[in-house]
Amino acid sequence: MKTDTDVIVIGAGPAGLTAARKLAELDVDYQLFDRELNPGESKPCAGFIPISSIRRFSIPKISDQHEINEVRMKFSEKELVTIEFDRLLGVNVSRGALSKTLQSMIPQTRSIFFGSKVSKVETNRDSCEITLREDGNLRTLTSKLIIDASGANPVSQRFTPIRRRIPNSRMGYGLQYHIEVDEILDNSNVFLYGNKYSPSGYSWIFPRGKVAVMGTGGLVRNVRENKQRTHEYLDYILKEVEPFRSELSNGVLIKKDSALMPLCGVITPSFGQRILLAGDSAGHCSPISGEGIHYSMVGGFQAAQTAARCIRKNEFSDSALSHYEKNWTKQIGSDLKWGFWIQRKLMRPESSRKSEGWSGSGFIESQKSQRIIAEMLMGEKSVRSSIIAIAPSYLKSKITKK
Ligand SMILES: Cc1cc2nc3c(=O)[nH]c(=O)nc-3n(C[C@H](O)[C@H](O)[C@H](O)COP(=O)(O)OP(=O)(O)OC[C@H]3O[C@@H](n4cnc5c(N)ncnc54)[C@H](O)[C@@H]3O)c2cc1C
Repeated sequence: MKTDTDVIVIGAGPAGLTAARKLAELDVDYQLFDRELNPGESKPCAGFIPISSIRRFSIPKISDQHEINEVRMKFSEKELVTIEFDRLLGVNVSRGALSKTLQSMIPQTRSIFFGSKVSKVETNRDSCEITLREDGNLRTLTSKLIIDASGANPVSQRFTPIRRRIPNSRMGYGLQYHIEVDEILDNSNVFLYGNKYSPSGYSWIFPRGKVAVMGTGGLVRNVRENKQRTHEYLDYILKEVEPFRSELSNGVLIKKDSALMPLCGVITPSFGQRILLAGDSAGHCSPISGEGIHYSMVGGFQAAQTAARCIRKNEFSDSALSHYEKNWTKQIGSDLKWGFWIQRKLMRPESSRKSEGWSGSGFIESQKSQRIIAEMLMGEKSVRSSIIAIAPSYLKSKITKK
């Protein structure tokens, strides 16, 4: 059947833009739509990208990138630890600047349309059709395949659900303060763990030039059931917790924002009925840290490769689409699976946990364990290899306690 284009990509986040780049490189006819005029600019995100991801996707210098080579971590009732690295760990960026850079990497951008909101998605045996709202006008467009990279609540799911809804016990919520200070901030990303700092997850402070992006959050269910309001954790850190009180409390709060993030581990299926879900829409986000830029780019890349293969073979059955899930699972499935395992074991509200989580564990005092956790958070080490490396200290601390 003749369609307007071969592949429709919905969303110009890291997943959609990476998919567009790969489709263009593979010479596949596609059109990408984003509802925003400047995608990324209003996306709530702390913007850390690990160096491994920068290298893997050959991302050039991002205009406002802030280099990170140190991690500071604080666990409840423990001293702040500083872990220095003799190498670059990654960069913090604004999402607007990241979006511009990812757009500049797409060989030709004439197939990309901003300010176009997808308001309906329909698929059948022979083709797909979307309805677009542009400047108050509606138009439809057909394709052979759709890559839906429209974020944590993907638009296609409303009309053509291909996986179950992510429940509040597996969906995360993050609230951020953007605080501007007088001087350029240091090169250290901060993580604060424990009930004092968050409703069950953790708090973060990521510097970018003179702006510190400070956030907290946890699973939506825990946030809702929690007596304390989420912003109170950030206010507490600013008022009471040194050295952050001194570093930030004279700054100016220039923005507050918040958003959902899937913290669900591996969720399947991510394909079906001529649709491939990529990025947050497929749960491609770390269940421990909420970092999803890298995982979304992997999802977008793999979705484009499968789409190109399907177009080449003119084969759009679920079996043909299933290559996509096999490929992304091979690359990021282990991190999502083991990350989810750690989240369940160690990152529940302290009151609801059988164990005391890592704040209460002795192993956290070992410098070796601290460095391994920092390497995992910065995307230097896989989650599985970190668990294996930490296991002996964890077990030792359990036995010593008894
Ligand atoms: C508070 C917070 C802090 C975070 N910090 C980090 C971090 O430091 N590092 C990290 O790696 N990750 C972080 N993340 C996660 C990261 O932001 C996401 O995992 C990532 O943005 C997912 O990329 P994506 O392309 O799948 O979706 P998105 O970036 O959400 O992009 C989806 C795009 O789809 C568009 N869209 C949505 N609906 C429609 C529609 N109907 N029609 C057309 N377009 C549509 C949107 O406008 C958007 O541009 C954070 C998340 C939150 C909430």
